[in-house]
Amino acid sequence: MTTHLVWLRNDLRLTDNLALHAACQDPTANVIALFIATPAQWARHDMSPRQAAFLLKNLHVLQRSLHDIGIELHYHQCADFTDSVRWLTEYCRQQRVTHLFYNYQYELNERQRDLSLEQELAGQVICQGFDDSVLLPPGSVMTGDGEMYKVFTPFREAFIKRLLHSDIHCVPAPVPRTMAITLPLRPLTPFSYPLQTINDAYPAGEKSALQRLRDFCHEQIQFYHQQRDFPAQAATSKLSPYLALGVLSPRQCINRMRIEQPDWLQQREGGAFVWFNELIWREFYRHVLAFNPSVCKRQPYIDWTQRIAWRQDPHGLAAWQRGDTGYPIVDAGMRQLNQTGWMHNRLRMICASFLVKDLLIDWREGEHYFMMQLLDGDLAANNGGWQWAASTGMDAAPYFRIFNPTVQGERFDPEGTFIRHWVPELALVPGKSIHQPHRWAESQRHQLNYPQPIVEHKQARLRALAAFKAAKDVNPGGDK
Ligand SMILES: Cc1cc2nc3c(=O)[nH]c(=O)nc-3n(C[C@H](O)[C@H](O)[C@H](O)COP(=O)(O)OP(=O)(O)OC[C@H]3O[C@@H](n4cnc5c(N)ncnc54)[C@H](O)[C@@H]3O)c2cc1C
Repeated sequence: MTTHLVWLRNDLRLTDNLALHAACQDPTANVIALFIATPAQWARHDMSPRQAAFLLKNLHVLQRSLHDIGIELHYHQCADFTDSVRWLTEYCRQQRVTHLFYNYQYELNERQRDLSLEQELAGQVICQGFDDSVLLPPGSVMTGDGEMYKVFTPFREAFIKRLLHSDIHCVPAPVPRTMAITLPLRPLTPFSYPLQTINDAYPAGEKSALQRLRDFCHEQIQFYHQQRDFPAQAATSKLSPYLALGVLSPRQCINRMRIEQPDWLQQREGGAFVWFNELIWREFYRHVLAFNPSVCKRQPYIDWTQRIAWRQDPHGLAAWQRGDTGYPIVDAGMRQLNQTGWMHNRLRMICASFLVKDLLIDWREGEHYFMMQLLDGDLAANNGGWQWAASTGMDAAPYFRIFNPTVQGERFDPEGTFIRHWVPELALVPGKSIHQPHRWAESQRHQLNYPQPIVEHKQARLRALAAFKAAKDVNPGGDK
């Protein structure tokens, strides 16, 4: 008898799971599913204790769903990827595995792990990988010269053309196996990794994710383009924690969107297309990462930015991390992150820009801190976002574009509704005054229990411009 092993990684779902679907095609095969925890590797990759807890919760749900269709989820813990290759090689031998199915991960260490494993298993186990976490595989959207696009907009146009001629239908969950499991559900041992309680806003499991997707595409997506930049409106899907762990697939997202909003492609200014555009950003950063492994080594894409003289400012960094910078919109965003593990996209941009440009602190400090807090931590998207804000990445904001945090607050939280929620010290400051609360406090002779701005934006902006210019001018135009 053939034994098919499905190695689950960041694809914790039954429906539209390409590897699992392929493994179950042969009704006579013995199908086993496996998850390997690698705590030491996760620590090196800055996985947040929240994401680890969310992973474990989702694994519990998945174990039961797999059990219901007659597939047992085996679970093992290794230290890191090297150990996992050693252990898995032996495991395949013991279980007489004939075929191994898995969905690709594009990060450097993950790719090296898979390559080593395939080499170990060569001649004994047939290995099959799938491009499951993306709509189109990296390498399939290239310029006429066979290069990766360096700018998002032409990438997007080529991507759409290609997508419209591609098969992106969702595959169904496997039907129950005829050889049902008779064993009871084995309790999953918690990982040897710090686990942080997550709030109820993100129930585990693909059913919850699919319900959220349906509700969003049915009720909210049509307003997305008008409301998505306003954090007080809660107008985005909040699907990122599910997408990051593969509890939901991007194909499920786009197919649901197409059902609910059939004219999505004709209405380029409409909510559905604008949302789809964000999903293409997700793809763009994954393609960038697959082509530039240096991204995984925390290297900037633009070489000359290596020379920027970042400031060492532990106090500034700590104030930023706590949400005590004296800039209300920045502090509200950071506190939302610290308390929930999720931050609105506009605020991620504002907070990242503040760290890198106003405090002139190395973007890698921010990238690391975000990963350690985020429930939706994803190397490609997080690195892409940080390198965008720091003006060091592919198609990044030009270095001289520096957000003014006060103006950003005035534009995107005009009445301070969001700020008041997350920065209760400012609850009494009325209306628009909240963006410069000390001015208001002085005029009212009111004592505020809120820090003064830790930098003066105008001066900080000039300091950042000078630092970037100095780094660039060492060899103007010489670097990419
Ligand atoms: C500095 C910085 C760090 C970021 N770190 C992460 C991260 O670790 N993980 C992560 O998933 N996203 C990250 N993003 C992108 C974006 O902020 C989040 O994906 C988004 O806020 C998630 O909320 P949502 O699910 O409601 O998004 P929606 O607006 O509903 O978008 C739908 C989906 O599209 C994808 N998406 C949306 N915007 C982006 C974007 N700019 N780049 C890439 N994918 C996008 C996400 O998967 C998201 O769930 C980061 C952005 C910045 C500026």
